[in-house]
Amino acid sequence: MASSCCSTSPVAKSHLGDGLASAPATVDPAHHARKSPTGDRAELLVVGRIVTNDPSMPSAEAMAVSGGAIIGIGTRAEMDGLVGPSTTTLAPDGIILPGLVDPHMHIWTSLLNLTWTDLSHHKCPKFDDVLATVRATAAQTPKGQWVMGKAFDPSLYPGEPIVTRALLDQASPDNPVLIMNASGHFFYANSAAFAAANVTDTTPDPPGGKFGRVDGKLDGSIGEPPAMLMMIAALPKPTPQDIAAGVNEILMAAARRGVTSVREAATGSIAGMGEYTLLHQLNGLRRLPVRVSTAQFSVVSGKSPKEVAADWAAAGVTPFSGDEMVRADAWKVVTDGSNQGRSGYFLQPYLGEESGGKADWTPEGLREVLGVGLDAGWQLMVHTNGDAAVEFALTALEELLPGRGATDLRHRFEHASFTTDDQLRRMAIAGISPSFLMNHVYYWGAAFRDTILGPERANRLDRVASAYAAGLRPSLHSDYNVTDIDPMLSARTAVLRNLEADGSILNPAECATPEQALAAITTHAAWQIHADDRGSLSVGKRADFAVASDDPWSSDPQSWPDISFHATYIDGSPAYEG
Ligand SMILES: [Zn+2]
Repeated sequence: MASSCCSTSPVAKSHLGDGLASAPATVDPAHHARKSPTGDRAELLVVGRIVTNDPSMPSAEAMAVSGGAIIGIGTRAEMDGLVGPSTTTLAPDGIILPGLVDPHMHIWTSLLNLTWTDLSHHKCPKFDDVLATVRATAAQTPKGQWVMGKAFDPSLYPGEPIVTRALLDQASPDNPVLIMNASGHFFYANSAAFAAANVTDTTPDPPGGKFGRVDGKLDGSIGEPPAMLMMIAALPKPTPQDIAAGVNEILMAAARRGVTSVREAATGSIAGMGEYTLLHQLNGLRRLPVRVSTAQFSVVSGKSPKEVAADWAAAGVTPFSGDEMVRADAWKVVTDGSNQGRSGYFLQPYLGEESGGKADWTPEGLREVLGVGLDAGWQLMVHTNGDAAVEFALTALEELLPGRGATDLRHRFEHASFTTDDQLRRMAIAGISPSFLMNHVYYWGAAFRDTILGPERANRLDRVASAYAAGLRPSLHSDYNVTDIDPMLSARTAVLRNLEADGSILNPAECATPEQALAAITTHAAWQIHADDRGSLSVGKRADFAVASDDPWSSDPQSWPDISFHATYIDGSPAYEG
């Protein structure tokens, strides 16, 4: 578990922008992913235990591949006619599964704190562990150099204080310390960090940001991006080499979990178009280990949505442009914040508060930014976390969608964490499918139930069973680095709805069947990223597959996260080998 989602990340152009400056201004796709089939003979014959995820033929012994596509699948004997003298044979040591799909993760926001010390509840089960980890890290860091921590989540330490400047001064008197809250909305700093950033007790709060103060003195908390950026500006900046290595590391982390396709869910939110063009540039140097579908971020400070859309179009980034490895597919709009950070937008107040949060847009503003995306032909990818945010975006789209934009764009609500029956029904009518951050249940389910929302609302978290019952095609995602990329863990949580905190089950009525959960990390996730040629193994689909230690379709969901992946292949050629 780590940072935050979507627009909530405080990373900035000022931080990554220098490193991305060398990325070209326009897109030059590498075009090396898809080759034309070379006649009726296979270049590659994959033999072994193949689990297809195709109901018409659930298992196979052999799969023939040409031009990166599957040209035959069935028994070994049935493939004989497709084998020629130049066919190479691959017999992997493991079970061959379709490559998994993570339809919502973040490369660029994750890059900011990729190397920061992990202060998550997972690594620091007690509040004192957080301070002990900061102390130990500072002790190993040369005097004066930054100590940076991520994923500190006060919502998981009920009754404990929030870290303060004084506590951090004690833990690290000689090194500047900056810790990011797991929601991504807050930093915590010590005195040395404030000094390095030239922020003093008398520094005015920037518009939209806040430096916490007690009796006029900085207390260490820093809220929301405008203030957080003032701290980020003082951090050491990554080099282009650091950025390239970081992108590769993030995508390899996905590949290690059997993933062959991801959706980058806020492309351009940090350093603008350089994010998209750098992916193409890196892919041109060496094929990326995972296919990346991008969701173009709709907000740039100081520009109207129309101007942002025009900028993307002027750079040649239009719907479904790019290539088979890096393709621009969606228009990203964020309507509220983080539920565990109490900035999600709810119909009823948070426990202990009088407010249920607020939307990031006025109704007119939301209609404008969504309408601009529709008019440009984009799939809409709309972050809606609380039930009021779902209502807000759904109401806008019920008005906008009829007769506007292309059909079959497969618009999505991201997280759709808390929904009512009525909302799910209306989403099905409007053609909007949900993508659930499923491990909200596993990691934060107890916090939602006990301290943030109460049991009735907590039961309505991530309603996979109800989404299916409403006729929707849900997917599951990591929102990396909010949670680690691990589709098998997400799928297990969808089936079991077990809570990490106490092992209890959060509303068994919403448990998915194993087949539903697995569809949500394969075919449905692929459908949601407009990758109908992936998610299962059948003739005509891409030869994107993973080699696994077990078959999830025939094994106990409890054991799914224990499945290891030895290798992944994209278009039949190795993408990751463990
Ligand atoms: Zn996100």
